[in-house]
Amino acid sequence: MSIQVADDKKIIIKVPLGTPTFLAENFIREKKDWITKQLEKVEKQSELADSMGPLTDEDIRQIKKKARVVIPQRVEYYAKLAGISYNKIFIRLQKSRWGSCSVDGNLNFNCLLVLMPPEILDSVVVHELCHRRHMNHSKEFYDEVLRIFPDYKRCNKWLKQNGGVYFKRIEK
Ligand SMILES: [Zn+2]
Repeated sequence: MSIQVADDKKIIIKVPLGTPTFLAENFIREKKDWITKQLEKVEKQSELADSMGPLTDEDIRQIKKKARVVIPQRVEYYAKLAGISYNKIFIRLQKSRWGSCSVDGNLNFNCLLVLMPPEILDSVVVHELCHRRHMNHSKEFYDEVLRIFPDYKRCNKWLKQNGGVYFKRIEK
């Protein structure tokens, strides 16, 4: 059984076919505190996004301009530091992800990263660069990430908690 709280506050519960109702109900009851916490988080993020207002086309133009200067610099810095090669860097406005790495070594980054504290951008850069060595999220992959960027766990947690606000600001 699994449970998920979506950005629109929908609660999605997945139960294997044939599970007795009482077991599903128990599961939901057990997860009540977690659900409440997730709903509060979604609510807080949308309030914060509302208070900051949506990003205008001009805002996004400026953000992209900055990102196309800053992100390649950070990629080059960490690539050199770790001795990792890469192909091309693409910077786009994306609505659901922060970065990705393709099999042919191209790196994609979300321009919104430049609105965040600099160490958050760095943590995403290091994550994608390490996919050049490990195309998965194995222990070996994370060992490599932590070796290059010891503060990774804290930054990743920050991104998980606060990243949604940035996506909300481009939803309009
Ligand atoms: Zn990854």
